[in-house]
Amino acid sequence: MKRPIIFTVDDDPQVLAAISRDLRSEYKKLYKIIRTDAPAEALEALTDLKRKGEVVALFLVDQRMPQMLGVEFLEKAKVVYPEAKSVLLTAYSDTDAAIKAINDVQLDYYLSKPWNPPEEKLYPVLNDLLDAWQMNYTPEFDGLKVLGYQYNPHTHDIKDFLSSNIFPFQWIDVETDPKAAELVELYDLEPKDMPVVSFPEGTCLKNPDIAELAKKLGLNVEARESLYDVTIIGAGPSGLAAAVYGGSEGLKTLLIEKKAPGGQAGTSSRIENYLGFPKGLSGQELTHRAITQAKRFGIEFLSPREVVSMNTQDNYKILTLDDGEKIQTKSVIVSTGVNYRKLPAEGVEEYTGAGIYYGSSMTEAQACRDREVYIVGGGNSAGQSAVYLSNFARNVYVVIRRDSLSSSMSQYLIDQIKAIDNIALVPKTNITRVYGDNGRLTGLELAHEEDGSWEVEAQALFIFIGSRPYTDWINLELIKNEKGFLETGRELTRYKDFRKIWKREREPYLLETCSPGIFASGDVRAGAMNRVASAVGEGSMAIKFVHQYLAEI
Ligand SMILES: Cc1cc2nc3c(=O)[nH]c(=O)nc-3n(C[C@H](O)[C@H](O)[C@H](O)COP(=O)(O)OP(=O)(O)OC[C@H]3O[C@@H](n4cnc5c(N)ncnc54)[C@H](O)[C@@H]3O)c2cc1C
Repeated sequence: MKRPIIFTVDDDPQVLAAISRDLRSEYKKLYKIIRTDAPAEALEALTDLKRKGEVVALFLVDQRMPQMLGVEFLEKAKVVYPEAKSVLLTAYSDTDAAIKAINDVQLDYYLSKPWNPPEEKLYPVLNDLLDAWQMNYTPEFDGLKVLGYQYNPHTHDIKDFLSSNIFPFQWIDVETDPKAAELVELYDLEPKDMPVVSFPEGTCLKNPDIAELAKKLGLNVEARESLYDVTIIGAGPSGLAAAVYGGSEGLKTLLIEKKAPGGQAGTSSRIENYLGFPKGLSGQELTHRAITQAKRFGIEFLSPREVVSMNTQDNYKILTLDDGEKIQTKSVIVSTGVNYRKLPAEGVEEYTGAGIYYGSSMTEAQACRDREVYIVGGGNSAGQSAVYLSNFARNVYVVIRRDSLSSSMSQYLIDQIKAIDNIALVPKTNITRVYGDNGRLTGLELAHEEDGSWEVEAQALFIFIGSRPYTDWINLELIKNEKGFLETGRELTRYKDFRKIWKREREPYLLETCSPGIFASGDVRAGAMNRVASAVGEGSMAIKFVHQYLAEI
């Protein structure tokens, strides 16, 4: 944590040196001592300090300075740091000015020069003032801040990006948070600048796009090598496991992720059934451990970058990224997982990101405090979110089409939900329409199978209604099942086109697609188990097949 500052200003070099020496000897452990002999420059420096999140606890300023009187300095300095205590160093003849300043600039004390011995004349006074200051001081959050409108979809994307990439940040709602005015003034912000991300070193990005923000945060967005042994597309559990094994087994490994590592699992508030974690662990924790482990084995991680197409050329695969950059690789593991299906109800598009969210509930959980929250879907991911959001919301309603959760949700979650008072199940019901006011969601129209329709108040709706594979981007003729999941291994032989496409003497390996050297693992693969453990298992297995394939070419 940053130490608060004692800021002393005096244009007389001898007095400045003496007071600084005394301040340092008594306070340097708990406070940073800043000294200057130039009051005008010091005032400019204060704004910079404020931008960097530094806090001034006390100003100690000489009254007699030709460039600017001490009282005048304090008047201006207290605009920037109104909470700071202020002490004027005075000569005998300045006493009247000092007494007047007690009213004019809420001066806390005036000290007559000289102050020897400091143990009697300086420290007791300053200790009292610093103690009083500490009583009202809560340390400023010393990290990234996001300032914006709560119900703005781009603001939601920025918050979601930061939290999925595990960058801690402080959210400041420009409409309701008292801290907003200070940032608006510091960076001279206008409504069109929102959302704004400010950084601890005192800079900010106004309405940044994700790529700009990623660059500023130091994420790696450009590939370093000209050829890789294996490129893994998608950094969910499956891709992360493949990266750990690829790296640990000495393959030149590239992992590309379009949003943030962790995939679906990264959005889970608690994974209770992953082997080796008897108390469960959050998706973020699992992701953090996995990406650290993969990087330790020397893999290269590119994010946020999206692969938009894939071609083959002799034994090489050429991947094209969102900005046209090409990646050359000997083999590929597609672990792009799944995306949520869209809710087919009137108005959903309009309020997505402004009260309606697909999956990930954690970023918006705070905004659900004391609100009416709806979840649509009856699977485990919906159940986990209901439990998590019940800690914040007034009520959480789980809307499902079936009459019970028993066929779609694990029993441990059904039991948890039953035991929580503010979660209610709304069975045999569809959401048919959503509506809002001022660009934000305010209500839903529900339709019961037998009892007809009615409207309910709702400030948030989280959608978990099944998934479709992320395979639209694949332009190669890879065999997929009727739902778009990639077929692999022996299953391929059931397709009549297979023999026309596959020209090798051997059969495809277990996780190999119909294009040699292109593998699929995890939820994107037809027949996948949709579990963290199975995705991790397949990612690890895929590397074994990569070795076998590389030995052939
Ligand atoms: C809320 C929630 C809770 C869950 N809880 C549990 C649980 O408790 N236990 C359990 O076993 N399972 C759980 N699951 C299921 C589990 O998370 C998934 O089965 C698992 O994440 C699948 O991993 P994956 O790597 O195959 O795919 P995903 O996790 O879907 O990851 C795929 C990744 O690929 C990226 N990607 C997609 N397309 C591209 C592209 N073109 N270029 C670059 N990157 C791309 C995506 O952004 C994503 O990060 C839960 C799922 C959810 C949503």
